[in-house]
Amino acid sequence: MTHNVTLIPGDGIGPEIAEAAVRVVEATGVKVDWDRVELNDKTIREAAGIPPAVVASIENTRLALKGPVTTAVGIGFPSVNVGLRKRFDLYANVRPVKTVPGLRNRFEDTVIDMVIFRENTEDLYSGIEHEVVNDVVTSLKVITRNASLRIARAAFLFAKEQGRKKVTAIHKANIMKLADGLFLRCCREVAELHAGILYNELIVDNASMQLVARPEQFDVLLLPNLYGDIISDLAAGLVGGLGVVPGANFGDKHAVFEAVHGSAPDIAGKGIANPTALLLSAVMLLRHVKEHQAAASLQSAVEAAYIDGTKLTPDVGGTATTAQFADAVIAKLG
Ligand code: NAD
Repeated sequence: MTHNVTLIPGDGIGPEIAEAAVRVVEATGVKVDWDRVELNDKTIREAAGIPPAVVASIENTRLALKGPVTTAVGIGFPSVNVGLRKRFDLYANVRPVKTVPGLRNRFEDTVIDMVIFRENTEDLYSGIEHEVVNDVVTSLKVITRNASLRIARAAFLFAKEQGRKKVTAIHKANIMKLADGLFLRCCREVAELHAGILYNELIVDNASMQLVARPEQFDVLLLPNLYGDIISDLAAGLVGGLGVVPGANFGDKHAVFEAVHGSAPDIAGKGIANPTALLLSAVMLLRHVKEHQAAASLQSAVEAAYIDGTKLTPDVGGTATTAQFADAVIAKLG
């Protein structure tokens, strides 16, 4: 069977890692018909937002592998990354953060294996900002029962299906009593329906410290949008950095697979970006389309490349290029 998948290389390091991902996925033997669409500064400017060709392709395939896209800081168009998530109601941002076998991190004897469930459609990312008077700005944090319940359900369902033991809700309801209070009430409501799964709550500042001090205590993390975004990068730092942590955005009908990291302008065009995060996002995509054997082989091949350790990119201590790492993974495919 051939899978129709939208390929969004994005910009910055996106095209480099996307090319590596396409080569590696094709080497697994899975047949993919890639519909390549451009989402970058040029096409965003031309369309004054998300280009219609990108929307049409995802509407058609319902499935995308996406590289990062740069968003101007403080000026310019609203983020198309956030825009895509809203356009397709991709409410669950799922980011597995795992120790990579063979890759040294500061937790030598500790296995880190957590999965972040980040609400993906609201919170301070609703983009409702207002200049009340000159030099006074408000930014609205929107939390709804509907969005909070569905991300909580997604996290608990995942925990149940994957035999995970614990879900930790992360919040700041001591200060944002109404907004984070509602989020927590929804989490508790869903937790009560899953007596077999431990449920606890941590205030986001304490959670940050606990993550750095004792990451092994975490299993499934359940967070509103902004905390989920920040904690994802923090968690990536625990296991080797942004180069190795994948992700997926799930809605009820569509799914977009993309790494946690951004377009890394500091290394773009140098051919040294680590494609691991996008390759592992492709593993998630393969599982999603039930290509379980190919997903398992690709996961093992990536791990084998790290255990071998001779063709790693600079961010994880090596000297290899993006293409050389991709070749090493292909060589390890069974
Ligand atoms: P970033 O994730 O792009 O980079 C942070 C640091 O990590 C940089 O030093 C970078 O070189 C390094 N890094 C990231 N990915 C790497 C990889 N695969 N291999 C090796 N090193 C890697 O974060 P930033 O610099 O804050 O953001 C840059 C741009 O990306 C911004 O415009 C931001 O809006 C955008 N962004 C996009 C997405 C997305 O498309 N989903 C996500 C996050 C940020």
